[in-house]
Amino acid sequence: MEDMDARRLFAQRLREGMAARNLKQADLIAAAGELGGKLGKSQVSQYVSGKTLPRPAVLELLSRILGVPEAWLVGEGAQTPPAASARQAAESRSEASAAASAFVQSEASASASGRNPAAPPAFQRVATPQAPTLQDQDTTSQRRAPMRQFTKSTKLENVLYDVRGPVVDEAARMEAEGERILKLNIGNPAPFGFRTPDEVVKDMRQQLTECEGYSESRGLFSARKAIMQYAQIKGLPNVDMDTIYTGNGVSELIQLCMHALLDTGDEILIPSPDYPLWTACATLAGGTPVHYLCDEQAEWNPDIADIRAKVTPRTKAIVIINPNNPTGALYPREVLEEIVEVAREHQLMIFSDEIYDRLVMDGLEHVSIASLAPDLPCVTFSGLSKSHMIAGYRIGWMIFSGNKRCMRDFILGVNMLSNMRLCSNVPAQSIVQTAMWGHQSVKSYVVPGGRVCEQRDYVYEALNAIPGISAMKPKAAFYIFPKIDVERFNITDDEQFALDLLHDKKILITRGGGFNWDKPDHFRVVYLPRMGVLRECMEDLADFFSYYRQ
Ligand code: PLP
Repeated sequence: MEDMDARRLFAQRLREGMAARNLKQADLIAAAGELGGKLGKSQVSQYVSGKTLPRPAVLELLSRILGVPEAWLVGEGAQTPPAASARQAAESRSEASAAASAFVQSEASASASGRNPAAPPAFQRVATPQAPTLQDQDTTSQRRAPMRQFTKSTKLENVLYDVRGPVVDEAARMEAEGERILKLNIGNPAPFGFRTPDEVVKDMRQQLTECEGYSESRGLFSARKAIMQYAQIKGLPNVDMDTIYTGNGVSELIQLCMHALLDTGDEILIPSPDYPLWTACATLAGGTPVHYLCDEQAEWNPDIADIRAKVTPRTKAIVIINPNNPTGALYPREVLEEIVEVAREHQLMIFSDEIYDRLVMDGLEHVSIASLAPDLPCVTFSGLSKSHMIAGYRIGWMIFSGNKRCMRDFILGVNMLSNMRLCSNVPAQSIVQTAMWGHQSVKSYVVPGGRVCEQRDYVYEALNAIPGISAMKPKAAFYIFPKIDVERFNITDDEQFALDLLHDKKILITRGGGFNWDKPDHFRVVYLPRMGVLRECMEDLADFFSYYRQ
């Protein structure tokens, strides 16, 4: 209770201080940067709404920005709003950062003069500086002009990537202040003990001296040959060495393809929920992502009727993510055949992201959609980050298959962009053959008794045992996407839910909205941590949901 009062009082003083300075939250963030500090968007919003109190270093920074004593900010002294606020409120917002620096000096001189911290702050703007000496005249006059602000491009306005978004910034801030956070937000296997096989590391070491130059832009012959052979085994038709490209992860290749294909206004069908990079890259390329529904009631399979309903004359392509991130779904052959049928009817390109294709459980088999579409233009994406658990080396690839004649011009565009980035990381290319064809350590993880399989079973049971939470059992990958009974918990804002869980339990998850899911009723858990950690985490989660109401 005391803590709540302190938070409220602090929030009130902070708001008063900001109003007096005519500073918005964004101005605080900018001013902190100018003073060599760091404040995150959600962090400031937490302070302003009274959700949390700042650590001492942050309190000091805020007091410097606002030009008020720390003691006043935490509620000591008179409550009266600063006298100078009316005048300052009339000043333009653009002066905010200049004001912030000025107030630093004001504060410094105030403390030097021994001002009583309990008294309401005077908020005096610094008087005109003394006449500059000849020596510093130039720089001083430059300093007086308000610095032009460098804003991000408008192209980024609708781009979302919450897997590393504002809640993650808040977690980083908490970590910097000494908190330990359990990160269930990102599918990064190595920190959870999934090691790169020794043979792969040894082979890279051995070849390092031969990897000093750029490679051919699409990639080393040995790497592309290994990828081609795998494609042949998966039944991809009409594959050749010239249309296999390696990239610095699948991420780079998604971006490259979206830029090569999409003109402003071109539509591309992308699943909802999705792996958000697809939507982000399509948007950045000027295209219009159109989300089709994956249906939780149907084991998260794509809803074919919804796909059909969303095709328009501007639709150029459809993306599928199989096995799926974030749901863990694995699409059966019949569903894939139906998608191929829609693509055939409407002459769509198929992009299939199959980066989890070897992480399939329950004795099921992964089918590449391209193997069912010899007459259609298909691009299949995969890499070493997930199915081989080697995410840090940054190596992925894409394979063109099926009808290449109709995508001749698109391929020219892809070649151009591929050449422009010169080539992908060459040491990583050098171990593709070893990793793809040597001992497959992941095989032992996904069978009964294996780490991934056991952790999946446990998390699935534990989540479904929490009143108000339900989840479909994942068949592949290492994610689960539980549903929250939002009425029970009164949840209307999933980012707030993620922040509250982070603050209360030090658990970092990704909100459903981060996957272009349009309701606040899901979140994604990465179940890579070892069983002991997962147990503790699920107990904390159960406790959180026993009291949480938004
Ligand atoms: N595609 C999907 C579906 C993913 O989940 C991820 C990463 O989480 C990527 C692509 C990016 O992979 P890479 O590490 O190869 O860039």
